[in-house]
Amino acid sequence: MVHTSSPHILVIEDEPPQMELLAYNLEKEGFRVTRALNGEEGLLIAEESGPDMIILDWMLPIVPGIEVCRQLKKRRDTSHIPIMMLTARGEETDRVRGLDTGADDYVVKPYSVSELIARVRALLRRVRPGSMGETLSYSDLMVDTEKHWVTFKGKRVNLGPTEFRLLCTLLEKPGRVWDRAQLLDRVWGMDKDIDMRTVDVHVGRLRKALRQLDGSDPIRTVRGFGYSLDHSI
Ligand code: CA
Repeated sequence: MVHTSSPHILVIEDEPPQMELLAYNLEKEGFRVTRALNGEEGLLIAEESGPDMIILDWMLPIVPGIEVCRQLKKRRDTSHIPIMMLTARGEETDRVRGLDTGADDYVVKPYSVSELIARVRALLRRVRPGSMGETLSYSDLMVDTEKHWVTFKGKRVNLGPTEFRLLCTLLEKPGRVWDRAQLLDRVWGMDKDIDMRTVDVHVGRLRKALRQLDGSDPIRTVRGFGYSLDHSI
């Protein structure tokens, strides 16, 4: 899972005018957009290309959006991808069903494009820290998520993609203690087949890279629980 500079959004929508309106506006805002005109195609593309986020229309022919959502959240390769449902229906039960199915957010049609874009950004920021091309900084640490640059105490640090995502996650809330399962979820995407010790291995690599400068690093081990970015530095 390597982040490129612009987040990749898969749009699953069967009505071409709706699709073009969405794709045009998302692309104008700098997102990469892949189009899928039905649920089957959407499922396939989601598995193959691993988008950062999916915008999914509720009303789709053959396989309805809610079923596509269920499938996406059930499959190992796609369960971590945030989903925004578009629905023309306003009924409360439908909204709840949408969220019960694992949708991360929903937008009711007709929507304003600027509101939708704001919701897309908010969702990406919430579930994928660092995917919005921002600069995250804390104390002596600075991460440019667009250029994939990390500096610690003014010196450039080279990190692998997993270590980079780990650091972005920790930087999201300095001082918060993350347990291994939470880090697995955020960095690897809920893949239950990954051993919890994998987290330790990659945290070890991240610390080693940061320590190269003067032997210190800002990551704190909380015994028996997990890791945190030390808020006292
Ligand atoms: Ca539709």
